[in-house]
Amino acid sequence: MAKKQKEFYMDPWSAQSIDEEDYERLIKEFGIERVGEIERQKLIDNRFIRRKIIFGHRSLEDIFKAVEKKQPWAVMSGIKPSGPFHLGTLTTALEIVEFQKMGGKAYYCIADIESWEDNGIPYEDAEEDGIDNLADILALGLDPSPDKAYIWRQSQEPVVKDACFKVGRLLTQNMVNAIYGEKPFGLYLAALVQVGDILLPQILDAPQPTVVPVGIDQDPHIRLTRDLTRRYYKEIKKGEKIVRNAFFLPGATYHKLLAGLDGTDKMSKRNPNSYFTFNEPIESITKKLKGALTGGRRNKKEQQELGGEPQKCMIYKILTYHFEEDDEKLADDFEKCVKGELMCGEHKKECIEKVIKFIENHREKKEKCIDKARELLKVD
Ligand code: SF4
Repeated sequence: MAKKQKEFYMDPWSAQSIDEEDYERLIKEFGIERVGEIERQKLIDNRFIRRKIIFGHRSLEDIFKAVEKKQPWAVMSGIKPSGPFHLGTLTTALEIVEFQKMGGKAYYCIADIESWEDNGIPYEDAEEDGIDNLADILALGLDPSPDKAYIWRQSQEPVVKDACFKVGRLLTQNMVNAIYGEKPFGLYLAALVQVGDILLPQILDAPQPTVVPVGIDQDPHIRLTRDLTRRYYKEIKKGEKIVRNAFFLPGATYHKLLAGLDGTDKMSKRNPNSYFTFNEPIESITKKLKGALTGGRRNKKEQQELGGEPQKCMIYKILTYHFEEDDEKLADDFEKCVKGELMCGEHKKECIEKVIKFIENHREKKEKCIDKARELLKVD
């Protein structure tokens, strides 16, 4: 008898986990394109690409054409200012920086309307998190020069609100139900504001291909934006007869989600034991890493006899995503683990040392970026 498939849905506001086999289903069900050899060769070589952490995309070909013709293109993403950076938010931030290095202008949004709608955080309270989050991405290498980046807070950006109202009239109950299911109305509104964020590069500057690097759980927002952009395009066409400068359909790249350190769901601000923040005391980070779920056996003897299961191990995963640059060493450690030649204690210790080194180094760089972040967000 055929194995019954797990009921699958994608909710950008929940802390759901996605099993490895679900990525294939997502590709098929939602018409996501695979990042194959051709895309890999055209993107900047980095670990997310080499290790297939970025696995899917929409409309990347528009970006490649723009690069080839030396035409402008944009990379757009943002952060909900509801707490400090963690490993989940790090992935998207590094992707934005990489696309900026590839020649795209970076558009970075502090999504304070979403933090109000989703978490009830007033704009003024989200301000300090916004500055802190922005300082993080500056420390990771985002170049904030006006010709290379545009940074805004949703609550302060009229272009975004205007776009939200304009496309809002095209949104139907059926569309939101099909994409998001039943949600509080404010979340639908926040999703519409995000449509405005994603279209901002094309409204503010000029129509241009746009890539939005996100975790796969954010795909509903991308689908909504593409759908509304198509409808909006038709709407203008009706009114003006001749359409000049029509928008490009915004594209995206999708990365796989990191599960929580404790092995539950994804790393989420909603579950403090599933992640550590970049601002947390070193002792607390160390403690959480020591308690992380591994694929190890009950004791040393069993580990030597049966070998470990690195594919289930959070230590192995965070090394793969962020803390082991050397592909060969990573592959080697996988082998050693499976053969029972690597013990969890020593491997965890090595991982903790790498994480702490990164955090300390990052904090030093970030400290120097706080004033710049305040200035960019126009906060005294
Ligand atoms: S040896 Fe390393 S990779 Fe293997 S299960 Fe233990 S911590 Fe994970």
